[in-house]
Amino acid sequence: MKIGVLAVQGAFAEHVEVLRRIGVDAVEVRLPEQVPDLDGLILPGGESTTMRRLVDRWGLRQPILDLASRGAPVFGTCAGMIILARDIADGDEPVLPLLDVTVERNAFGRQLDSFETELAVPLLGDQPVHGVFIRAPVIERVGPEVDVMARLDDGRVVAVRERNVIATSFHPELAGETRFHRLVATMAAEHADPGEGVGRRPYPTRRSRQAG
Ligand code: GLN
Repeated sequence: MKIGVLAVQGAFAEHVEVLRRIGVDAVEVRLPEQVPDLDGLILPGGESTTMRRLVDRWGLRQPILDLASRGAPVFGTCAGMIILARDIADGDEPVLPLLDVTVERNAFGRQLDSFETELAVPLLGDQPVHGVFIRAPVIERVGPEVDVMARLDDGRVVAVRERNVIATSFHPELAGETRFHRLVATMAAEHADPGEGVGRRPYPTRRSRQAG
């Protein structure tokens, strides 16, 4: 089982480090040929405008979309979340529109460029997550198939999951937090080896869980 970290720009080294620390085979991804071999992919923080240019220049857009459509987990932090959003509030074209959300870039303005706060993330257990926000986006709209994983005290959404796609406004990899990466690794292992007779099933959606 192998997880890639998009390494065209931004804070990719920290993600590779967290993956290796939890025992995952992690690779820096720069070439389209690397993508089909992956069982999961992380899109790091950085500058989404630069990242979007490089994703296209290096021919990575279609291979990543194909990987996600096969059910491999994709996890975006901060700029990575912007890259995954179907809608971007400032009118930027979406890049890899895998998450049915609208994001607002740099949502905390100049006064509050960066901050840290404790966040409840029930899916990851009782222990709160220490959220490091750096010129971070927030999620303004959440589509019907999207699960909210975490909110700020004021109710703004800062972590979501839609089937095999996860995104956070903040940087767990800068806070010694490994649970998001462990979740992605679990999903990637399941994708790599779906087990007898089960097949590469899609992750349950909010609707299908309620129906079931
Ligand atoms: N502000 C950056 C952007 O809009 C994201 C910042 C980050 O990834 N830490 O792309």
